Amino acid sequence: MEPKQQKFSVGYFIAALVVLLLLQSFLFAPHRENLSYSEFKMLVKKGKVTDLVLDKQVITGTLAPGALEGLLPKEKLEALKRAGGGAHAFITARVDDPGLVAELEAAKVKFAGRVENTWLSTLLAWVLPALVFFGLWALLVRRMGPQGGLMAIGKSKAKVYVERSTGVTFEDVAGIDEARGELEEIVDFLRQPDRYRRLGGKIPKGVLLAGAPGTGKTLLAKAVAGEAGVPFFSLSGSDFVEMFVGVGAARVRDLFAQAQQKAPSIVFIDELDALGKARGVNVVGGHDEREQTLNQLLAEMDGFDTEKGVIILAATNRPEILDPALLRPGRFDRQVVIDRPDLRGREKILRVHTRQVTLAPGLDLAQIAARTPGFVGADLANLVNEAALRAARDGKAAVDAADFDAAIDRIVAGLERKSRVINPKEKEIVAYHEAGHALVAESRPRADRVAKISIIPRGVAALGYTQQQPTEDRYLMTRAELLDRLDVLLGGRVAEELVFGDVSTGAQDDLQRATDIARHMITRYSMSETLGLATFEEPRQALFLKVPASPHVREYSERTAEAIDGEIQSLLGAAHRRVRDTLTAKRATLERLAKLLIEREVVDRATLVGLLRESA
Ligand code: ADP
Ligand code: ZN
Repeated sequence: MEPKQQKFSVGYFIAALVVLLLLQSFLFAPHRENLSYSEFKMLVKKGKVTDLVLDKQVITGTLAPGALEGLLPKEKLEALKRAGGGAHAFITARVDDPGLVAELEAAKVKFAGRVENTWLSTLLAWVLPALVFFGLWALLVRRMGPQGGLMAIGKSKAKVYVERSTGVTFEDVAGIDEARGELEEIVDFLRQPDRYRRLGGKIPKGVLLAGAPGTGKTLLAKAVAGEAGVPFFSLSGSDFVEMFVGVGAARVRDLFAQAQQKAPSIVFIDELDALGKARGVNVVGGHDEREQTLNQLLAEMDGFDTEKGVIILAATNRPEILDPALLRPGRFDRQVVIDRPDLRGREKILRVHTRQVTLAPGLDLAQIAARTPGFVGADLANLVNEAALRAARDGKAAVDAADFDAAIDRIVAGLERKSRVINPKEKEIVAYHEAGHALVAESRPRADRVAKISIIPRGVAALGYTQQQPTEDRYLMTRAELLDRLDVLLGGRVAEELVFGDVSTGAQDDLQRATDIARHMITRYSMSETLGLATFEEPRQALFLKVPASPHVREYSERTAEAIDGEIQSLLGAAHRRVRDTLTAKRATLERLAKLLIEREVVDRATLVGLLRESA
């Protein structure tokens, strides 16, 4: 049994006090006639006042019998006489009247001043407000809990999540195996820090998880803590944006102190970009608070060593805008990219989230996964929830395909507004486009090999991507290699032309890059056949300082400019013809690869090589 806590209730105390005061003034005060000051003066002159007491604000006293004759109506006087005989008390408000004392002396009135009896007014003026404030404060403290309250500003709000309370493990994280794999090493270290220390292994201080919202960054961080069985401290970068100057920094300091006390532990900073946006030229009255907090964070990261077993995980969906200082060695020097899940990943995530849901027999989660390209983990969790709610509303015993269909439609409509889901026609175009890049790359001996092709939408611009892996580090590139690179870039666009007889806007980035390569081949590397060995570079830009580019000053004539443009056109034109020939010859393979992509969304190198061998 817990002892019942004895609480001092301010409310009761104040209520009792008020009742007391009212009783005193109404019940125990004698009846007094309320006179106006002019009536009082008249009575003084007539000698009807026997004695009085001068207070600061009021005059109280006694009237001679019969004094009120003529002042009050007849019946009232009768009533007074019956009640208490002749003399009665009076009260009047005091008016600024310097001659009063002289008049009183002349009228031979007994009068006295009074030293104010102040206990009551002091109580009212000071103690009561103090009590009220105290009461409010007590209320606030109780509401904020033991950690909060006015005394706790700057104390970190980071909550301690211990393994048992979150219970998140890698079991709960599905479909992002690559990212998970990279974090397993950290779990290992947190479990047995001594073993790593003995071997002198260098463990990263900070790991940055980069990925679209809802891809499971927070979940993954919690799972690392859960798997390792260490405390999890978390903070969100956006919490600092609106704070008082200095509070954010204090909080960061406190967070790290707590985390080191409980080491080994994990500190998780969500929305790092809100805090760590590149510190530009300071806007007037700029973001002092954010900057101070960021500086404190950097200082803390530099100030402790991993030996102690504190690992910082941070999440962002905009790694490109982070302050470079954050990414320096010894800080967030390791980055883990979390992609949107592919078809099989989505199926696994659905499996995780339907563990507690009764599914209709024969419901195919793979089919649902196929209908949800572009969905991230959070969308899928939402989908399962929505479908289950629908089934419950209709009084069904299990969630069936119809529930999922309706839920998908609803969520897709929501996501389409945010343009995160592509429709089947677009998906087909993207598949042929990427297949074109990949086939051209594989048919050019000097191009980098294809590592992975994906048509899962990614970020804002890219609808799909073909990832190439250089076979070795390169510092020099030959003309032939650059030409092959041009071909690969044009592969996507040409595939669209061949298959659909039309082109899409999807190739814009490719064409931009192809044009840049062609231009540089001519203006920088003098690889043109007609323009000779001169270079025609634009004014050089400072390499490390981000100085705005100086206005374009051309160091060559209009005619040369025209010749350069002509050369670029002819380089690109020749590349276009070569690529068209290649893809026309491999049309059947192109079709097969694109179909495979539409089906699986991601094709890895092994599958691609197999397919090429079969078609050869
Ligand atoms: P982020 O931090 O990347 O914005 P969260 O980790 O907060 O995303 O994910 C939100 C929710 O979505 C999680 O709590 C989980 O229910 C679900 N979720 C996201 N990714 C996955 C995943 N890979 N596997 C299982 N559930 C996931
Ligand atoms: Zn492309």
